[in-house]
Amino acid sequence: MSKNVLVFADVRDKKLRNVALECLAVARKVADGGVVTAAVFGSFAKDFVDPLAHHGADRVITVLNPELDQYTTDAYFQAFKQVIEKVQPDAIFTGHTAVGRDVSPRIAARLGLGLISDCTNVEVQDGQIVFTRPIYAGKAFVKKVVKEGTVFATIRPNNIEAMNADPGRKAETEELQVTFAQDLLRTIVKEVVRKTAEGVDLSEARVIVAGGRGVKSAEGFKPLQELADLLGGAVGASRGACDAGYCDYALQIGQTGKVVTPDLYIACGISGAIQHLAGMSNSKVIVAINKDPEANIFQVADYGIVGDLFEVVPLLTEEFKKVLG
Ligand code: FAD
Repeated sequence: MSKNVLVFADVRDKKLRNVALECLAVARKVADGGVVTAAVFGSFAKDFVDPLAHHGADRVITVLNPELDQYTTDAYFQAFKQVIEKVQPDAIFTGHTAVGRDVSPRIAARLGLGLISDCTNVEVQDGQIVFTRPIYAGKAFVKKVVKEGTVFATIRPNNIEAMNADPGRKAETEELQVTFAQDLLRTIVKEVVRKTAEGVDLSEARVIVAGGRGVKSAEGFKPLQELADLLGGAVGASRGACDAGYCDYALQIGQTGKVVTPDLYIACGISGAIQHLAGMSNSKVIVAINKDPEANIFQVADYGIVGDLFEVVPLLTEEFKKVLG
């Protein structure tokens, strides 16, 4: 049966996040011929109408209020709620990003909806929408269905392919005027101070070169950064490296850090503790470089290199330079 599906299109630094397009692919599958609406917030929201249409939205609702230029829980909650009241969707999808993880449970609780979070796959089987999500820090997966009411799920970035862009696709657009209950706007963002340098966003990176305590110093991350830059990727870290002060906690991957699923994950001097694996073991190809042949990271690696990372990483960089020109 066709469904009316709503996607919340997450924008960061005035750029549409890939996961918004991945949510649209999910929405198209679930809609089964029904209408897919994308909602996008902020005074620059109109810039994203075309990419959203090209990737599967039939209708784009823009909410241009300047209060939405920077994320705050209160403003986004109020705007998102009003979009849902307008669209009356059968299913809602958001990215499992910092914003999606913050606003979705609040919406679900206030509207009395169930929420399935951090989905890595969505299938339609015999008319039922079946969600797959990891449990026990990624050691197992569970399949879930929503038996009644509106379906609401957050989608983990980098797990579901976005549809190819069709530049001929057009969407109906609508500008929604949102009214804010001023007494509920309890926070304002005055300034955003970035802790990490500009570059590829770790949670959406296709290639990650991650360093652990084996990198030994902040200086030791330089060869990793060089390799990541060459491959168009990002640098990540274990908590061991962050705790030792070699890099910022914003780079931490794992149970209490970011969850990543790049096409290629190169782990350098990381032992492979279960809490680290929880954040990266779903990467498509894992390469581990470690001096210790017994290191646990080799249990999940597709390719293992037993050796000193300070020799191996520069060699890899040299070889990639030859291939990539
Ligand atoms: P180590 O375990 O010290 O490993 C260093 C590795 O480097 C060793 O295997 C060594 O053989 C290798 N090495 C040393 N020198 C070289 C060299 N020159 N060349 C090649 N290899 C070399 N950890 C996370 O990463 N992410 C999390 O989110 C996280 N959350 C946690 C939550 C909780 C509640 C707890 C209790 C722990 C958490 N941890 C997390 C910590 C985790 O248990 C490990 O302590 C941590 O992952 C270890 O980091 P590491 O592998 O860099 O360091």
